[in-house]
Amino acid sequence: MAAHCPNCRFERLQAAEFHGESVDLCGRCGGMWFDDGELDRSLSSADNGHDKVKLESSLGDFIGYDRRACPKCRSKLGRFYLLNGLEMEVQRCLDCSGTWVEQEARAVVVDTPNAAEFLQQLQGKLGIGAWLFQFLLKLPLETNLKPKGRPWVTWALIVLNVFMFACYQLQVDWLAPYQAELPLTPALLMQGEQPWSLLTYMFLHGGYLHIIGNMYFLYIIGDNLEDVLGRTRYLLLYLLCGMVAAFAQVAADPSSTTPIIGASGAIAGLFGMYMLWFRNAKLSFMLLIVQLRLPVQWYFIIWLGMNVWGLMQAGVGVAYWAHIGGFVAGLVVGWRYRASVFANNPMVALLHQGTLRWRRDARQSK
Ligand SMILES: [Zn+2]
Ligand SMILES: [Zn+2]
Repeated sequence: MAAHCPNCRFERLQAAEFHGESVDLCGRCGGMWFDDGELDRSLSSADNGHDKVKLESSLGDFIGYDRRACPKCRSKLGRFYLLNGLEMEVQRCLDCSGTWVEQEARAVVVDTPNAAEFLQQLQGKLGIGAWLFQFLLKLPLETNLKPKGRPWVTWALIVLNVFMFACYQLQVDWLAPYQAELPLTPALLMQGEQPWSLLTYMFLHGGYLHIIGNMYFLYIIGDNLEDVLGRTRYLLLYLLCGMVAAFAQVAADPSSTTPIIGASGAIAGLFGMYMLWFRNAKLSFMLLIVQLRLPVQWYFIIWLGMNVWGLMQAGVGVAYWAHIGGFVAGLVVGWRYRASVFANNPMVALLHQGTLRWRRDARQSK
């Protein structure tokens, strides 16, 4: 018997392929029907980092019965949250155990195992290993969605920074003629000299702590941003934030002859974007010996406060204006590209909206 779409009742479902499984698709509304087991099998073979998906047996809460009937056995469909914490539902036949996935849910269903893992981590506690890591290294731990692809640009930026650092440390010969020309010197830039230093300064570091701190933040935060922006746009925005940071520092003290170096300004730009797009992500923060997992907004607001405080102390040796300038550039970029990032990354958009509901549900279930 031909199966008809539960939405467009006179439209026949047609055979279609979804990540290696032969499923039933409505050509009119884009809804998709998975017979028992087909959804788990297709999500297991999809490229989402998960090979043994068991979503069908672990859907979120039952919401109620649907008015529509199962396309295969005509029984009533039940409505379920795709995951508790997400404002997205699927319908499941309680008799034949098939699953109906609307087109809007289809855009996120492949990433669901990743999101499930993330939501679980948010509720879980950090272990003793995580405490020791942070106690000893003073670096935060990130909790966020796993990026889908490999972050080649982020890795390349880290390699380039480490390479330049090593060359300066080893005083290699080929670098000698340029060594003084690559850092950013505000007084020289104001005279129109060394314009390239607006770019080159952000690939240089002065000491081990400086480069380890910067590269670690680039490593944990850059991968998610590269994932949602795409490689080229990510690289260009990274460089743009670094340049805005340089301008901010030069504008604050144009006559300074102290050379400025470091990726901090560009990375501060990444903080701004990250804070606007991944508001459910968390970074751990060590208060003496107490490890707190803070929402990213809090973490970066504390970080910004420390920079403003540093400025007021008239601290030397740190380019506070570059940090603040880069961060503001990142916020502006984050706002400007918000709609396109969410449109291209439905799961990121869904988690962004789903927060309030998830917090409320989590409280009720206690
Ligand atoms: Zn339809
Ligand atoms: Zn059925």
